[in-house]
Amino acid sequence: MNILMSDRQAGLQMKQVSFHEKLVQHNLHIQRQSIEVLQLNLGKKCNLACHHCHVDAGPNRTELMAPDTVDRILHLIDKQPEIHTVDLTGGAPELNPEFRHLVSALRARRKHIIDRCNLAILQEPDQSTLTGFLAENTVHIVASLPCYSENNVDMQRGRGTFQSSIEALHALNGAGYGINSELQLDLVYNPVGATLPPDQVQLEKRYKEKLLEDFGIHFNRLLTITNMPINRFLHALQRDGKDQEYWQLLIENFNPKTIGQLMCKNQLSIAWDGEIFDCDFNQMLQLGCHATKTNVHDIEHFQELCELKIRTANHCYACTAGSGSSCGGSLD
Ligand code: SF4
Ligand code: SF4
Repeated sequence: MNILMSDRQAGLQMKQVSFHEKLVQHNLHIQRQSIEVLQLNLGKKCNLACHHCHVDAGPNRTELMAPDTVDRILHLIDKQPEIHTVDLTGGAPELNPEFRHLVSALRARRKHIIDRCNLAILQEPDQSTLTGFLAENTVHIVASLPCYSENNVDMQRGRGTFQSSIEALHALNGAGYGINSELQLDLVYNPVGATLPPDQVQLEKRYKEKLLEDFGIHFNRLLTITNMPINRFLHALQRDGKDQEYWQLLIENFNPKTIGQLMCKNQLSIAWDGEIFDCDFNQMLQLGCHATKTNVHDIEHFQELCELKIRTANHCYACTAGSGSSCGGSLD
């Protein structure tokens, strides 16, 4: 099964409706309307190696965004003032040696900065000043915590991860995160298995009660994200013989109301090597956007990539199923 085919039936059985056909059935098309958010993948190196990881990140990966690429992106950001948010991801973005330089440069430009943080990184011995640095720069932290139960988190992210995440959350609360209105701390939930996430509002309520009661932890919002059937998660589904069941679940729950809110409509995703994609997931599949020049070193202005038709394929079902899904949580 080759998802990179990105054509009619990639990943699906013949009887199943492709994402392109589904859009036609509903008379929908997906086109970028603006570029307000940049998501930068600073590299594939990570202190963890989670089962659901769509980046295939891990401690042995060496791909990191280079200093000249970081500087080129800052130059292009200066030419596009409507970019208000820069979302830093990886791997563990904090492991890129350019991370602090980039955060300081974005802060000087008054951008909203998001750090997609796996929490355990804050507990690494060589990262003892990281929490303070993030707070000083009012970086918005979006942290994965796939469950409030130790067993579920350790099953998905590796033994001991839950405990170190709780310690990191205590340290973040201690620095004012989740308490001081300027220091936003959001948590991310994704299902442990081949299911859709539950209702975001209800689950947030449950997380808040459990984390406060059991650990005295405060946070702002819970974002529910649907697992994307690509890379490591797809391989796990295939290994367990659950891939077709999962595709069927996504297809049956297609929700046309999510199309207007898709994150690809107002953002671009940039890979560690400067290549530009419509979203982080397309980046992982190496599905380039519909443009002739697609690297930050080759373009003169991000505007060249605005108003392009988005490169969609069957994995887009994961963004449009149920309440929808994006890096900012549910959509509908
Ligand atoms: S922490 Fe995130 S980037 Fe790192 S392995 Fe886990 S899912 Fe992948
Ligand atoms: S995977 Fe989601 S965000 Fe990416 S192009 Fe498809 S619908 Fe848009």
